[in-house]
Amino acid sequence: SDVRLENLDVEETTCGFCAVGCRFEMWSKDGDTIGTVPVDDPSAAPANNFSTCVKGKFGHEFANSDRRLTEPLVRTDSGEFESVSWDDALEYVAERLREIQNEHGVDAVSCLASSKGTNEEAYLVQKFARQVLGTKNVDNCARLCHSSTVAALQQTLGYGAMTNRINEDVGEADAYLITGSNTTESHPVLATRIKQNVRDGADLVVFDPRQVGIAEHADQYTRTEPGYDVAWINGLIRYVIENDLHDEAFIERNTTGFEDLREKVRPYTPERVEEVAGVPAAELESAAETLAAADTVVFGWAMGMTQSSHGTQNILALANLALTLGQLGKPGAGLSPFRGQNNVQGGGGDMGTLPGSLPGYQDPSDGEVREKFADAWGEHPPAEPGLKVPEMFSEAHEGNLRGMYIVGENPALSEPDVQHAGEALEALDFLVVQDIFMTETAEHADVILPAATSPEKHGTFTNTERRIQRVRPTAAPPGDARQDWEITQELANRLGYDWDYDHPREIMDEISDLAPIYGGVSYDRLEEGPQHGLQWPVPDEDHPGTPYLYDYEDGNFNFEDGRARFVPADSGQPGEIPDEDYPLTLTSGRVLYHWHTGQLTRRVEGLMSHVGESFVEIHPELAARLDVTDGEYVRVESRRGEIVVKAQVTERVDAGTLFIPMHFAAGAVNKLTQETFDPQSGIPEYKVSSVRVEPLGPE
Ligand code: SF4
Repeated sequence: SDVRLENLDVEETTCGFCAVGCRFEMWSKDGDTIGTVPVDDPSAAPANNFSTCVKGKFGHEFANSDRRLTEPLVRTDSGEFESVSWDDALEYVAERLREIQNEHGVDAVSCLASSKGTNEEAYLVQKFARQVLGTKNVDNCARLCHSSTVAALQQTLGYGAMTNRINEDVGEADAYLITGSNTTESHPVLATRIKQNVRDGADLVVFDPRQVGIAEHADQYTRTEPGYDVAWINGLIRYVIENDLHDEAFIERNTTGFEDLREKVRPYTPERVEEVAGVPAAELESAAETLAAADTVVFGWAMGMTQSSHGTQNILALANLALTLGQLGKPGAGLSPFRGQNNVQGGGGDMGTLPGSLPGYQDPSDGEVREKFADAWGEHPPAEPGLKVPEMFSEAHEGNLRGMYIVGENPALSEPDVQHAGEALEALDFLVVQDIFMTETAEHADVILPAATSPEKHGTFTNTERRIQRVRPTAAPPGDARQDWEITQELANRLGYDWDYDHPREIMDEISDLAPIYGGVSYDRLEEGPQHGLQWPVPDEDHPGTPYLYDYEDGNFNFEDGRARFVPADSGQPGEIPDEDYPLTLTSGRVLYHWHTGQLTRRVEGLMSHVGESFVEIHPELAARLDVTDGEYVRVESRRGEIVVKAQVTERVDAGTLFIPMHFAAGAVNKLTQETFDPQSGIPEYKVSSVRVEPLGPE
């Protein structure tokens, strides 16, 4: 098959960076990815038509890097890695995993699936965990980004997903509330649609602790205090209700629990909101008036809302606001979590790579569901929910979790308090990492299995608007690197099973048999018009997919009675608050030119030439007080550790807040972040840590 792949040099495919899900033609020559060009027919690229951002255009060069892993590696007694044959590597992995399970029980091992791989690959990782290993411990990095979104939207609306479409709804709203999203840098193509629409007259309201790029296009930008978001959102709801601006008919027809909400938000007076969240009363009022006056409103958010010890509460509050205004179930309206990784919706959620959730968000303790999976797999999936990512690390630290199989994730750099995460990885008896580069996580591994990346794969990604789209290869994996699905299949078979998938399309057929929301999905259908891809739920082969969830008139929320639930949200304090020793609040996030832990983008010269190292944003007033000048290196310190980074003096942050991007290993922000977790979703509070900063002084 390698020869066949090498002969391909142009294919229509889906971007492997963010969850906007842009489509384009990818070109490769002699096995090297050389670039992307827009598709001829915009209906083949429903989210982006002809646009792409700088990462989509140039970012895929990482696939050509001569630092790619090309052969399986095993750590020897001397601590060095040695290359071995696939047979030896796979045999060794199978043997060690079973040994650990025999000695310490089936749940002494866990699997971490990837949100960057395809749906088919993610499905196989959770199947490997549940069927082959019999462990209940499977999770993925969506735990760290939108798990609180999923928890909140499932409770209020039924589905833990974006309710609407990118182009036709987010691109056509009459008004926006965007909060906790650096949209222009993290979801550039989507931000372009919003900016165009705002230029054409739509109202844009942005609430954020940082004056991010999208705020420059806003009719109203309000600076908030990091970590106190429920207060101002409840304040907006209170204002709307008190002034009779709520959609009474919609609430009456389609919801339950409104009276509880009314009670809960009553204390959130403008004075209290100002005191707690730093939002002036006049700004609260004008935002509420703008949103209530619009025919259609889109509520957009990302990690500024979710990565909080109150993450689920924050999203419950946003959902309550949208329901109060009746802004769901109609074109141009809805709740729009801007999800991060290319396939975090699919591989990180829909495929069941979650403790306590089978493919299609089915409950593993439900008798009927269990029987269906047992019929297909020959084994019942574990009924109990397993460990979430942060729990895996604390259990490894305690010596209770002994083995891990990590696919395409880099927790050694992405976990909060990375010193702690590194110790946990070291404490494991056995760590297998399947990846394309020697990541910070792979450095802790006992076995490294070299895998493929998106320009080398057949499969599907599901973007942030629930659209399942095809991914096609234009190159073969380098050296002896293999397709991820083939590696997982080989491991399953060495552990006594007889998986015999020949192509990812067969895996998708199994997914559609088992997960009702993918019931009508097949590769044949994904490739036919009128628009490319299918938005779930797609219950059967004749179903056209679901552009927007729910119905303004009839409700159709995903509960038996079809009604949405108001679940009142509680405000509270972040896990760490500034004090005399650590008087500043640190927040973290992304920049346009990089991606997550930077494993891909730090290898692309064109991107590194824009932002080549980490930095810290410092307000001019604070910089003057500390005698720090722009471009000077400073030490930033928290209770967990310290880093040295370049100061960028800017008014994007206020004088009490610092910002550091998350993409760099040198100056890694997660050496500073703290381990407080949202109790419902387990998401870490990356967005609020207490720190101090000082100039380095003379050498
Ligand atoms: Fe890729 Fe996202 Fe950029 Fe589109 S906006 S090209 S999906 S990184």
